[in-house]
Amino acid sequence: MTAGRLLVVAALRVEQAALTGIGRDTVLERCGMGARRVRQWLPRLDRLTPGAVAVAGLAGGVDPALRPGDVVVATEVQDVAGRIPLPAGAPLVAELRRRGLPVHHGPIVTTDRIVRDRQQRAELAGAGAIAVDMESAAVVRALVRRSESPPVAVVRVVVDPVDRPLTDLRTIPAGARALRTLHRIGPALRAWADLAAPRRVVLAAPRSFCAGVERAIEIVEAALRRYPHPVYVRRQIVHNAHVVADLERRGVVFVDELDEIPDGNTVVFSAHGVAPWVRDQAARRDLNVIDATCPLVAKVHTEARRFVSRGKQVLLVGHAGHDEVEGTLGQAPGRITLVQDPSEADTIAVPDDEQVAFVLQTTLGLDEAAATVGALRRRFPLIDSSATDDICYATTNRQRAVAAIVPDCDVLLVIGSANSSNSRRLVEVAEGLGIPAHLIDDAAQVQPAWVAGAVSVGITAGASAPAQLVDELLDTFRAFGALTVEERVVTTEDLTFALPKGVAG
Ligand code: SF4
Repeated sequence: MTAGRLLVVAALRVEQAALTGIGRDTVLERCGMGARRVRQWLPRLDRLTPGAVAVAGLAGGVDPALRPGDVVVATEVQDVAGRIPLPAGAPLVAELRRRGLPVHHGPIVTTDRIVRDRQQRAELAGAGAIAVDMESAAVVRALVRRSESPPVAVVRVVVDPVDRPLTDLRTIPAGARALRTLHRIGPALRAWADLAAPRRVVLAAPRSFCAGVERAIEIVEAALRRYPHPVYVRRQIVHNAHVVADLERRGVVFVDELDEIPDGNTVVFSAHGVAPWVRDQAARRDLNVIDATCPLVAKVHTEARRFVSRGKQVLLVGHAGHDEVEGTLGQAPGRITLVQDPSEADTIAVPDDEQVAFVLQTTLGLDEAAATVGALRRRFPLIDSSATDDICYATTNRQRAVAAIVPDCDVLLVIGSANSSNSRRLVEVAEGLGIPAHLIDDAAQVQPAWVAGAVSVGITAGASAPAQLVDELLDTFRAFGALTVEERVVTTEDLTFALPKGVAG
């Protein structure tokens, strides 16, 4: 394998022409159209030792959402012999999107003849494919048989979508447009190929699901088994795009507010908790409520109400707009005030400086919370608070774990969604300690430039991010060269929470 050298394989002369100008150290090969021609060409491939291989060209759409000019990066290739996963392709998705191209990430099926028929394409879609070509699987199969397989990506640009056969006259301009798009992917291929290198990964532990998230997902799964579909969930059950998409596929409908749910249906309240008025509304609507509020969030609600019942004004240290903050503020409207940072703590007005208490959002950064609480204590020397810290164990442990690995990392990747508070705090911890950090939903959001020069990459996952996404990210790095994985454990977690009534037992 020759590090850095990129081999680009295309079937047709016009595709090859569109792919010129990729840049240094690139070899362009034409394998011919269809499996028979690819077989004739394979001996040439056997003589090449590229650092990375991209099979690129045009394709037909199988997923009805794909339009002419859309780019497809394969998660796997399929043919009659089976499926071959392509984890190395993931960062190419991020690189192409960064360049403004419309990119889909899914399986590509290779067939032995052009699939013109709409019904046949529907059958391919039924098997999970989103696009179809005639060469990729044969090329990829030859590469993965090597003792040392290079990173391989398959990237195709759609010419004919499902609803437009190749014989349609509109295919001519669509083809021209697809070739222009193909020309634009070249520089992205170069950036992607530069990822090929041995690498070290340092895993922070604990990472990924906490007890509250495990419980919330378990509650929804139990509700799906026990109650008629759809099961409704108010707001995202946990702040993670993959978890939400998976539950949607299984029969969950997510709503913002209860008025979107027909009377008498089942609704699950998310892990972030709700205000009492939401419970009242559910009772009026005769909804079957299952409460997935994390017990540690519910504890903060109880504290806040207790302080209010003692005549105190409660200051909630947290971030505006977060579901948990809305739920906590709603425990006693008008008697709980949000304080977001030290400057707000310095200026907040309360009815009586001696009758004040504070509570915290459970997913705050430890340092940011300490700064704001410090300002509150200076401002209100008699301020009351709970005996235990409101920032939950999972938030604390994941931040400490990141702080422990940062000295050994060039960059940190945090798996978590953009609306996940605890995940965003992990990025801030790493940045505060002086290394670049990036929040990603999955491996397909890793921009090659972030890690191309990094010898040691730190990886963690927020409390709402599935562990499987970490495994997939490791598979992606493994596909680019020898990978050393070291896990740094700062503590272990064994907390679990019981299920609530309605799904328990
Ligand atoms: S992050 Fe903490 S408060 Fe939030 S669900 Fe997990 S354990 Fe509960």
